[in-house]
Order: sequence, then C-alpha cells, then structure tokens
Amino acid sequence: MASSIQQKLCNICIIQHITEDATVRCLECEEYFCEKCKIHHGITKASSNHEIISIENDLKLPKFVQNIKNNCSEHDERFVLYCDQHGVPCCTQCLHNKHAECRNITPFQRVVHNVKDSPLFMDLETTLSDLMTNITNIIEDRTENLHDLAKGQMKCKKEIKMTRDALNTYFDDLEADLLVDLQKTFTENELKIQNMLKDFELRKSKVFKMQEDVNIVKSIASDFQSFMAIRKLTKSANSTETHLQNLFDQGTFDWIEISNSTTILQLVKDSLKSFGKPDRRVHPPKIKLNVQKTRGAQLIGPINISDSKKKLPIN
Ligand SMILES: [Zn+2]
Ligand SMILES: [Zn+2]
Ligand SMILES: [Zn+2]
Ligand SMILES: [Zn+2]
Repeated sequence: MASSIQQKLCNICIIQHITEDATVRCLECEEYFCEKCKIHHGITKASSNHEIISIENDLKLPKFVQNIKNNCSEHDERFVLYCDQHGVPCCTQCLHNKHAECRNITPFQRVVHNVKDSPLFMDLETTLSDLMTNITNIIEDRTENLHDLAKGQMKCKKEIKMTRDALNTYFDDLEADLLVDLQKTFTENELKIQNMLKDFELRKSKVFKMQEDVNIVKSIASDFQSFMAIRKLTKSANSTETHLQNLFDQGTFDWIEISNSTTILQLVKDSLKSFGKPDRRVHPPKIKLNVQKTRGAQLIGPINISDSKKKLPIN
C-alpha cells in the first residue's frame, strides 16, 4: 500500500520473509498486519475481539501513546491490575512481588471502563482548556503591558525634553536678569568715576593755574604782593589738600572691581544631582487566572469509578 506516511511492514509476513506493507495494528497483540493477515487475525477465535486501528490512525497517535505496552517489561506478563497507591499497572507477578501490601488494587478492565467519560478525563480537558485561555490571556496581557511600557517611555522622553526646554528658558531668564544687574552695577560705578574725573580735571586745571600764579608772583610781584599772595594761595592749596585727604579717608578712591558673586555652575551641580528618576509603579494584575483549586486533589486521587476501591482477593 503506497502511502506518503511512514511505512510499517506486516509482522506476520516478515517471519515468512515476505515484505508486505501493514494496513492495521492490533492494540492487543501490538503487531502490524497486512490486509491478508488482518483477515486471518480477525477470524481466529483467540484474537477475534482484539481492538484494531488503521495504520494511519496509529501513526497519528502521540509517540508516548504508541509506546504504551500491554505487557509488564519485567515479567513479560499481561498487565491485568492497577495499583492506585503507586499509580502503576501491574501483572500478577508484580502484585505478589511489589504490591502485596497495597490497597486499592483494581482489575484493569474496571479501571479503563468508560475512562473517556470519566471525571478525570473531562477534568483534564477542562484544565487544558483553562490553561489555554489563561496562557492566551497572559500573552495578550504581557504584550499590552509591553506596548504600554513603550508608550510610557515615549511620554517620559517627551516630558524630559519639555522639562529641559523649560529649564533652558528659566536659565535664559536668569542669565538676562544677571546681565541687566551687571550692566546696572557697571553703569553706576562708571558714572561715579566719570563724574569724579570731571571734578579732578577741574581741580587739576585750578592747581595748574595756582602753579602759574606762583611762578608769576615769584618773578614779577613785589615782596608785599608776594607775601599776601602766598598766604592766600597756601590757604587754598591746604584746603584742597585737606579735601583730598578727606575724600581719601572716606574711601572715595577705593579700587572697584566687578565679578560674579557665585559660580552658578557649582551651585547647580551641588543642589541638582540628577535630572529625575524613572518611577516604576506596580499595580495589581489586570487579568484573572481561571484555576480550579479542587483539581489538585483529583489529580493525585484515584479514578472516580464506583467500586474501584474494593480490595481484590489475592490468589
Ligand atoms: Zn501479512
Ligand atoms: Zn490481536
Ligand atoms: Zn510484572
Ligand atoms: Zn502498589
């Protein structure tokens, strides 16, 4: 039988050195049969009630299901019992060897009966369905959270930029104020010195005039004139000198220097150690998990089939 799926050969034909593609598998015998051998197997009395599945379906089964054996690997005997306590299948030898003290030994036929309609099976389906819903919700929720985080980051970046711009404006204003202050301080002192210079130019020319007067008096005037003139000029010179000394004592000639009172850069560095700090806030989850609290007990408990807990008589 040509098929795209993996080919299996008939186990019976192989013994007779014939290679024949298998079409079915007997789940009891764990053997593959071709069409011819399937018919033979089906009419043989011992195997007529064996459960048979098509090779296609057999290969569709998960690997671990395909590998489930009917026989005990240790004793090569058919599993006929199930030990609830150990959660394992046992052959009669296992029962005597390892499970002699065990309670809740059930015939396999009874355990597997209607298993597909059992609460455990339905519960597994519900659990898987809930898990699927939960995980889908989680993926959706985490993806949304990630988008939200990215949006938050963008918003923070914009705010940081706005803060920075506002700070620039604020510093521009402060700088302008300082420049105005500086100009005012300079102008005040400039005016004071300029007025003083005018005043002293005047004084200088007066003193120069007095020097000229002294020279003229010295060369031309009579002794009497000179005597009188010197007294007057001396009085005037002394008065000027006293005035200069007073101005000096009053600090009029103190040296004036202009500079910035504080170094703004160091001031800002000292008081402003960071530009801010990302605030990571955590809120309660937005999703709810659908988890059955009672499920745990059922998973480790026995399969809930009536009479399954009766202890078997051991022969
Ligand atoms: Zn065959
Ligand atoms: Zn069979
Ligand atoms: Zn065994
Ligand atoms: Zn046991």
